Amino acid sequence: MSDPDPEDRDPVPTTCMRCAVGCGHLHHRVDTGYGIGSAQGDVSHPVNRGMACPRGIEESVDPDGEWLERPLIRKGSTLVATTWEDALDRAVSGLSAALERDPDGVAVLGSGQQTNEAAYALGKLARGGFGTRYYDANTTLCMASAVTAYYDAFGSDAPPCTYDDIDGAETHLVWGANPAVAHPVMFRWIAESARDDDSRLVVVDPVGTKTAGVADDHVALDLGTDLALARAVLARVLERGEVDREFVESATTGFEEVADSLPSVASAAETAGVSVETVDLLAEALSDPTLVYWGMGVNQSVQGTDTAGALIDLCLATGNLGPGTGPFSLTGQANSMGTRVCSSKGSWPGQRPFDDPAERRTVADAWGVPVDRLPDDPGPGPVGTLEAVDDGPVEAVWAVATNPVAGMPDATAVRERLEDSFLVVQDAFRTETVELADVVLPAATWGESDGTATNMERRVSRVRPAMETPPGIRTDLDIVTTVGERVVPGLFGAADPEPVFEEFAALTAGTPADLSGVSYDRLDDAGAVRWPAPDAASEGGYRYLAGADETAGRTGGDASWAFETPSGRARFSTGEHGGVAEPTDEEYPLVLTTAREADGYNTGVRSRGAATPDAPLARAHPDTLSETGLDPDADRATLGSRRGSVPVRPEADPAVPRELVWLPVHHPRTNELTLPDTDPRSDEPNFKQCAVRLRPAGADRDAVAVDAEATGDD
Ligand code: SF4
Repeated sequence: MSDPDPEDRDPVPTTCMRCAVGCGHLHHRVDTGYGIGSAQGDVSHPVNRGMACPRGIEESVDPDGEWLERPLIRKGSTLVATTWEDALDRAVSGLSAALERDPDGVAVLGSGQQTNEAAYALGKLARGGFGTRYYDANTTLCMASAVTAYYDAFGSDAPPCTYDDIDGAETHLVWGANPAVAHPVMFRWIAESARDDDSRLVVVDPVGTKTAGVADDHVALDLGTDLALARAVLARVLERGEVDREFVESATTGFEEVADSLPSVASAAETAGVSVETVDLLAEALSDPTLVYWGMGVNQSVQGTDTAGALIDLCLATGNLGPGTGPFSLTGQANSMGTRVCSSKGSWPGQRPFDDPAERRTVADAWGVPVDRLPDDPGPGPVGTLEAVDDGPVEAVWAVATNPVAGMPDATAVRERLEDSFLVVQDAFRTETVELADVVLPAATWGESDGTATNMERRVSRVRPAMETPPGIRTDLDIVTTVGERVVPGLFGAADPEPVFEEFAALTAGTPADLSGVSYDRLDDAGAVRWPAPDAASEGGYRYLAGADETAGRTGGDASWAFETPSGRARFSTGEHGGVAEPTDEEYPLVLTTAREADGYNTGVRSRGAATPDAPLARAHPDTLSETGLDPDADRATLGSRRGSVPVRPEADPAVPRELVWLPVHHPRTNELTLPDTDPRSDEPNFKQCAVRLRPAGADRDAVAVDAEATGDD
């Protein structure tokens, strides 16, 4: 079962790994050689019923990245090809040397791009084999604030609602997200539902995005004021007398505390740069059955957890919990949800609390390792992990399916820290991080891998290879277990995907994320199964609601709520707007924000290819460009922050507010500018806001030259 013969399975049913919607695809291999010849949506898959988007199809079939085809090792300033034995020897030797000095001497950076099986094995090796606290995944760069807010509110991660609820909602409130670009198939369901009579799509975003462009209402708040606006809306809900008192009193705690701390509607509206009438519009929209979706515009902030919590509060206060309603974080990476459940990053498999002695014992026993080898805390997040190369014990870094040089804030500092470490990079494509590696382990990509992935609504689905693994390449799971067996002999009894899945699924039994009733056989029959699924007949639906059925509606009718908190009640949060992380000033008078492009994904490795322009596109309001002194026809400008300065290609765009400059997240130079400050609760970086200045091309270089002349430097 775990090693299907691709020759017998064309077309091969699999899961699209281009975003976390989790569409089922059918992949056809090429007639000769290696590669996927064509792909299409799978009509039998329960998630998408045949739908698919161009990005999912095109990048599955024809990624632009430069494939890695052989292991590489560093010889001086270049990477040269070598054998697997040599590459593994060097990787194991470097990692082992660092571990001998300190279990925290090795940092492991995983990814939401791996299958559940590979992510579980990597977490088991990092935590139970190496015993390092410096283990994280790039999912902390996107979803950690939502995750922390879910734990705060419900005692468990993941949205309570599912795709089944989209059709029943009458208000679709999209906050700090652009699903028309990022989640095309899901957005089609949202847009279709919003077109119904008495339904609407409301978008809260500082920028006029593609999603905002088709909304019934677009609320263009000032960047970085989401929490102020969310609190203004809650205050207005109170004023309008539209708090669902029965639900709040019977199923929640903390409402009086947050109510007492709310700002006045007028002052919070002013902070957010919107009118009181706009706040009223949002409060009124919540009086209908509402789904509140949010994305990176909320999560990627020093107040990301508080803001996500405030959006959940809006749902709780207005009784928007139950079928057709609820808070719904939009996950970016294809298997972010899976890695959150299985990879032992912030919790043990199945969301077992990291610091609970009994849970630690259970995990250690299952893995056959001493419990005192498990690290005491889940570590500082990816930013703090790489800072520990400078001021902590980290000597070696192993990056798996992630590109931190392009994907982390303050990229120049990240580059320097990785250059200072012994760096092992495991990836399918040549990335900016690969270029710094001491050892490169070429890994199979999605059309060549076997396993499972979990989409944003908790559905587990099979990932199947359309072809055999090309020569010179090994799967992530194979590489992780091979390195693991050499560093920690006996840790991995099984190295095939199916038994690894069974081991992981068994470890979730009895937990809030129980998927012990999911098996490869069941997935072959059902296509996909949503957790919690504690037995072979059960499948998760609306969470925390006992006795709910499809007609129960908002707050579940007569059904009863049982949240995973100690009291069994949902908890309101208490966050208050605290200002932006890096205010503008005379030197840096503009605000940089970053977001996705339609054909991009993560750091764009699979989509930008060799044709990557040397300068990212910088969208700004026409008035901003002229006030900056740019020639209207200028094809180059310089964008600088306190971290660095990069060339950009300016483009006038009236959809961008006057004080902003917009850059795509996918360009490898964008994060040379961004701020490494993080949310203190979630460790998620403040990608969405920092102070910048825009100047004619060369101005910053000229300014440096003048400064040097003035000081006599050369
Ligand atoms: S919506 Fe996402 S999962 Fe579906 S086909 Fe497009 S990229 Fe793939």
